[in-house]
Amino acid sequence: MSGIFHEGRWYENTDMVCRRCGSPVYASDNPEYSYQCFGCDEDFYSIEVDEQDAHYLPPVMVARPANGITLNATLEYLLDDSDQRRVFQNQPEAEGFLLTHGCSSDDLKYFYFEELSGQGCVFEIKGHGISRYYTSPAVESFTDFVGHLHAGAPHPIRTRIPEASELPQKAWRDIADNKITGFSCFLIINIPENEFWVNEDTGAGMAIYCFPFTAVMQAAASGVTDLWERLLAQFPDAKKC
Ligand SMILES: [Zn+2]
Repeated sequence: MSGIFHEGRWYENTDMVCRRCGSPVYASDNPEYSYQCFGCDEDFYSIEVDEQDAHYLPPVMVARPANGITLNATLEYLLDDSDQRRVFQNQPEAEGFLLTHGCSSDDLKYFYFEELSGQGCVFEIKGHGISRYYTSPAVESFTDFVGHLHAGAPHPIRTRIPEASELPQKAWRDIADNKITGFSCFLIINIPENEFWVNEDTGAGMAIYCFPFTAVMQAAASGVTDLWERLLAQFPDAKKC
């Protein structure tokens, strides 16, 4: 089964999307409506939603109930080599992986294929000539992100961000192309160039800003409660578009 977990509840994929923001919609918790969009936090009638592009398969993570007990609230996720939740290009790729790692096709029905969408931030870390891409459902904003970066120093950046999962490059591109929607902020840390790019809605729609990475970390050292105000006062030309 494929779908998402939202506030601890499983919502099965409906193959329908929100007309307003393009995010997948799920069965409404309100009996008067058919669907709800977690991106817009609204309920919709079935005539108010659109069909999803049938050819598009979103990236997924793989989970199963801990100890194999169905309806057990605790889930265990398939992890990658660095103990982060592993993200597959799509459900068929995840199933292929499970089938070549000791699962029978009968076993597959006990797994949850959790779609990656509309949860928290996505970020890219550039350095040593390579880029790596991550998502974290636990971090909603630039301010939160920088708070974790500061608190977790001097460990590697990825390990400072809670619940960070590495993304395949294709998933990152799909997010950039708006095929996977609903993320609240996009960040690019370019360490060799000393740049910290931020794409976030700070009150007037999504906008792109660029700050020196070192200046962001210095600002974080004196507390992140008014991070935006301080950085924008220091770098009035930071807004790029
Ligand atoms: Zn929506």
